[in-house]
Amino acid sequence: MPDFPIPVSATVADLRLRVRTWRSEGLRVGLVPTMGALHEGHISLVRIAQQTCDRIVTSIFVNPTQFAPTEDFSTYPRTFDDDVAQLAEADCHLVWAPTPSEMYPEGFATRVVPAGAAEGLETDFRPHFFGGVATVCTKLFQQVTPDIAVFGEKDFQQLAVIRQIVRDLDMPLSIVGAPTVREADGLAMSSRNRYLSADERRTAPLIHEVISGVAAHVLEGGNADSACAEAARQLTAGGFQKIDYIAVRDAATLGAYDPKKGAGRVLAAAWLGKTRLIDNIAIES
Ligand code: AMP
Repeated sequence: MPDFPIPVSATVADLRLRVRTWRSEGLRVGLVPTMGALHEGHISLVRIAQQTCDRIVTSIFVNPTQFAPTEDFSTYPRTFDDDVAQLAEADCHLVWAPTPSEMYPEGFATRVVPAGAAEGLETDFRPHFFGGVATVCTKLFQQVTPDIAVFGEKDFQQLAVIRQIVRDLDMPLSIVGAPTVREADGLAMSSRNRYLSADERRTAPLIHEVISGVAAHVLEGGNADSACAEAARQLTAGGFQKIDYIAVRDAATLGAYDPKKGAGRVLAAAWLGKTRLIDNIAIES
């Protein structure tokens, strides 16, 4: 393996040895799972893990099982050297970078299939997705055995699904949610933003603008369904080609929202050219 500024583990055996050494020293370990092509949003997760952990492992693995054959697995941005440099700069201690065959050796056949928070929204459009995410995260938790793992609210339903599998399967770690880091114009940072043309990049912040409008409207007691329908019209008028969903849900369960029962969340997914953008925002004053 070439020289990197911080250690990079490529095998489960090497990873385990390193984590075992830390554990024998009584150190607390935090995990930040990523698919690489890192940006400030990912680095913010490392910083949040550092608040309560002595050692930080960031995994970089573009997980083939969460992509459908029609999706962007083969073209997903891969910027490994730059990722490791950013992680070194952020004082991350170890990069966990398994190959697909290390993660899924010959004969691999087990799948974690989440329900509950995984139902609806993303699953209506990417039915394979949360099974792939839940399986790889279960493996990452087994491999790294962290005290905490940090996930971004940017992928709000994913965060809810991870909390659900950890709770349901009694996994011995805490899940920490991290606020979405945005560009100055409101667009949520995402590895996929680099797919956007200059024109699309100018249009992209509209998704944040319209879901913020829905949140404000619902907070004032307005009707959620009509606000979502109006937001979809605005996105289409603004240049988005296809709206997968704009929905108001209960922030904890992702079931129906009832302001008397708990916090709400507006979630959206929409296509700008060939790029699918997702975003979400809290309904709060
Ligand atoms: P990804 O590499 O896109 O799979 O994301 C890895 C982790 O980074 C996930 O927990 C994401 O929710 C989180 N993440 C991605 N973008 C952002 C962002 N803009 N702000 C905060 N967290 C993010």
